[in-house]
Amino acid sequence: MMTSKAIYPGTFDPITNGHSDIVTRASKIFDRVIVAVASNPSKKPIFTLEQRLDMIQKSLQDLPNVEICSFNSLLVNFAQKKQANILVRGLRVVSDFEYEFQLAGMNRRLAPNIETIFLRPAEQYAYLSSSLVREVSLLGGDVSGFVHPYIQLKLTELMNNK
Ligand code: ADP
Repeated sequence: MMTSKAIYPGTFDPITNGHSDIVTRASKIFDRVIVAVASNPSKKPIFTLEQRLDMIQKSLQDLPNVEICSFNSLLVNFAQKKQANILVRGLRVVSDFEYEFQLAGMNRRLAPNIETIFLRPAEQYAYLSSSLVREVSLLGGDVSGFVHPYIQLKLTELMNNK
C-alpha cells in the first residue's frame, strides 16, 4: 500500500502553538509528516537554524509519525527528494490567503504533481504568529499561552543575552 507523506514547510522563528496545532492535525491525516525548516537567511531569523530545529523537536516530541528536517533549496525540489507529494500550509485569516494562493500557484507551476493542502488551526490560534510572539516576548510580555514552555525559556534566554 502507498503511504502518504506530507511536508509542512516554514521558518518557525520560533515554533508556536499554532504551528503545533497544524502539525498535530496533519499527523492524523497523513501517514508521515515532515516539518521542513527553511534556513531563510533573508528573513534574518532571531534563532539560528539549529536552535529552531531543537525547539521544534522539544515541542513535537509526542508525535511519533513526524520527522523534522531543514532545507535550503527550492521547496518543491526538497519535496521530490523526500518523495512527498503533499504540501501543508496553515490558513489563519483572510489576509493569509493572497500570499498563500500565490505560493501554491507557483509551486504547482514548478511541480504539477505536488498538491498544496490548507489546514485551519483552532480558533484561539487564528491571530497568533511567530512575529507577534517575538515582539511580545522581547518587550517582556507573557507568551506562555502561545508557545511550549521550552520555547518560552529560550526566548527569555535570548532576551537576557542582549
Ligand atoms: P513562512 O516563512 O513559510 O511563512 P512560518 O513559520 O511563518 O513560515 O509559517 C509556516 C506556515 O505555518 C504558514 O503556512 C503559516 O500560515 C502557518 N502558520 C503560522 N502561524 C500559524 C498559526 N498560528 N496557526 C496556523 N498556521 C500558522
